[in-house]
Amino acid sequence: MSKKSYVTGFPRIGEQRELKKVLEAFWAGKSPFQAVEETARTLRQRHWEYQKSAGMDYISSNDFSLYDTMLDTAVMLGAIPERFRGLQNEELYFAMARGNADSVAMEMTKWFNTNYHYIVPELSRQDTYRLNAAKLINEYKEAKTLGITTKINLIGPITFLGLSRRIDGDDAFELHAGILPLYEALLHEISQLDAKVTVQIDEPIFVRDTPPKVLSLIKPTYDRLCSVSEHIEIIVNTYFEHACEAVDVLVNTPVWGIGLDFVHGPKNMQALQRIAHSGKKLVAGVVDGRNIWKNDMQKTQKLLETIAETVDREAMIVSTSCSLLHTPFTLAYEQQMTSEIKNWLSYAVEKLDELAVITKRFFEGDAALEAQERAMLQANISANESRRSSERIHDAVVQKRVEGLRDTCRAEAYETRIARQKAALGYPPLATTTIGSFPQTPEVRQARRAYKNGVIGTDAYEAQMRAYIDECVAFQEACGLDVLVHGEPERNDMVEYFGEQLNGFGFSENGWVQSYGSRCVKPPFIYGDVSRPEPMTVKWSVYAQSKTSKIMKGMLTGPVTILNWSFVRDDLPREAVSRQIAVAISDEIDDLQNAGIRIIQVDEAAFKEGYPLRKEKITAYEAWAVRDFKLATGSAAVETQIHTHMCYSEFNDIIKTIEAMDADVISIETARSGNTLLKIFKEVGYKQEVGPGIYDIHSPRIPTVEEMVSQIKALLEVLPKEQLWINPDCGLKTRKWEEVKPSLEHMVEAVRIVRGECDC
Ligand code: GLN
Ligand code: ZN
Repeated sequence: MSKKSYVTGFPRIGEQRELKKVLEAFWAGKSPFQAVEETARTLRQRHWEYQKSAGMDYISSNDFSLYDTMLDTAVMLGAIPERFRGLQNEELYFAMARGNADSVAMEMTKWFNTNYHYIVPELSRQDTYRLNAAKLINEYKEAKTLGITTKINLIGPITFLGLSRRIDGDDAFELHAGILPLYEALLHEISQLDAKVTVQIDEPIFVRDTPPKVLSLIKPTYDRLCSVSEHIEIIVNTYFEHACEAVDVLVNTPVWGIGLDFVHGPKNMQALQRIAHSGKKLVAGVVDGRNIWKNDMQKTQKLLETIAETVDREAMIVSTSCSLLHTPFTLAYEQQMTSEIKNWLSYAVEKLDELAVITKRFFEGDAALEAQERAMLQANISANESRRSSERIHDAVVQKRVEGLRDTCRAEAYETRIARQKAALGYPPLATTTIGSFPQTPEVRQARRAYKNGVIGTDAYEAQMRAYIDECVAFQEACGLDVLVHGEPERNDMVEYFGEQLNGFGFSENGWVQSYGSRCVKPPFIYGDVSRPEPMTVKWSVYAQSKTSKIMKGMLTGPVTILNWSFVRDDLPREAVSRQIAVAISDEIDDLQNAGIRIIQVDEAAFKEGYPLRKEKITAYEAWAVRDFKLATGSAAVETQIHTHMCYSEFNDIIKTIEAMDADVISIETARSGNTLLKIFKEVGYKQEVGPGIYDIHSPRIPTVEEMVSQIKALLEVLPKEQLWINPDCGLKTRKWEEVKPSLEHMVEAVRIVRGECDC
């Protein structure tokens, strides 16, 4: 029988985050690199076995990575930025990812609209690229010795270029002619591996509004890649949205198959006719790789049947909608979840079983299902039914309050507000602050864990948190920062912390998803209507404020970010869920200001990653995202200063929307991109205050005073001192005190020098 079930890719961090742990031990000098390699090998084997035992026909190799697959691709193509040349092997690899004493790390940015971050390759016309396919070839062979013939995953040349940065200015696509021969050579090497090798070439860039330039590259690229060897079957794979324009071209190339996401790109249905005519294989992504809800097998069966009305059933392959990288590993470790809720969920390993049943049903019919498979199908149907009707989900009070709401905004215009705030708060030009969190020390984590597990009581726990806050406040005062924070020791995570205190949220014990490198997040899941039973942050902010005469900034996470960093219920539109969260945050702001907190930061770290990938959907998203930020913050008094923080480095497309959110101050992530990004704020005549991050907190490197002085001066070339705040580019929780203290001291010193020079 031909092969029918297909897994786009599998998560790699390990179900107990083994990879994270060994990497961090290696970076800390506590483990040899050999230990990393051993763990990596164990994990790959385990993940392949999971897929094999679930009966998956297409299992990937080269979906594994020690840090990131874009970085792997850059290394494979020899795209090594000049500052790292001379280094080798793992030293080179991790220096590119994380920086080292001499060089800053490569830029990192979000992978499409997910919370996964990839390393942005740096390309230049001067460079010569050279292929090194060892990693990929070895992984294929490694699987083969285990008796598993894998398909090989690659990031396609068009996506690679499209997501890279030309450091010498021009367009990365101009390097196409230089890069393509390396891909040809790569496929040639691959073709030696076996009589037939399937290669999945990921081209997610096709799901964005594809400019003519990109479209014009598709045919020459895939004509050439397909002509390398008859031993290779190429599947061009896309995900997260529809790729209709690219399909139009791909059907006229010799590619063997095309992968489309029917969960997040329903418009892909319009491409079916052309695929049918082309006779190509259709890899149909129908099991959501980005959510944790059980698949609705009845619905999926209908979807597949609908597809099969156009595309020949025999040409179909049933797949996940994208790599399972974006879901947690397995429900096996979820011991504490109520069984009713657990029964609604499915993580990566469980999705494999779903895929197996779905595939068999579709190709062979219900009658072919074995007893156990039939039981799974029945269980799936009743789990979905239980979720639809559960009382946990529907809260009439919340629904009523949200229905009655009108859109809100601040009582005065920005100009009036900022004048009154400056008078009331009295902070200097180039005011210094931080983004909120301070290092999460082992003691802090330990205390939280002990409290959670009932090992210590509330009093002991709170005393320990207060002691940490005392330390943070003392350090910030000694350091000379202008606006202080309490340090967020009580927060495990900026979304989970709020989710835990809101009704309608569920939590996992082990639902970790890779965010970047060794960093994982454990997103809550929103299963029901959201409400706030009591204040969530007031106690800590008020305590911290009582310890200083300086201004203590309150710290909240905004509605859009809570939404974007959670697994969201799929039985309500996202905007309806967002609105419920906004109401809860707005109540928290009222409580904070009533308790004497005068600056409140509402983090919207994930505002941008929630952007739809297609222009046609953007207006609607922006409308409700802005509406809900304003709903959350609109009730703040004129003198209460609302900050927001966003961790990205591209604002060009969204600057008007950011302005419309009407925060008084925004801090942003610029450290890895100089002052280029700030220029857009100037160009559009942005009036509100801006705190462009002046150093990169994602790297352990301690920036020097001189460096920061020149960074601040570069900012001053763009915006006046009255409009600028000075801060790191994100929260400090992932760093160590040994890094944070000197870095912030250098930052304050740099500001002191610049203020001296500009006489302010
Ligand atoms: N206030 C949060 C912190 O400092 C913001 C984190 C973020 O933007 N990702 O950790
Ligand atoms: Zn940030």
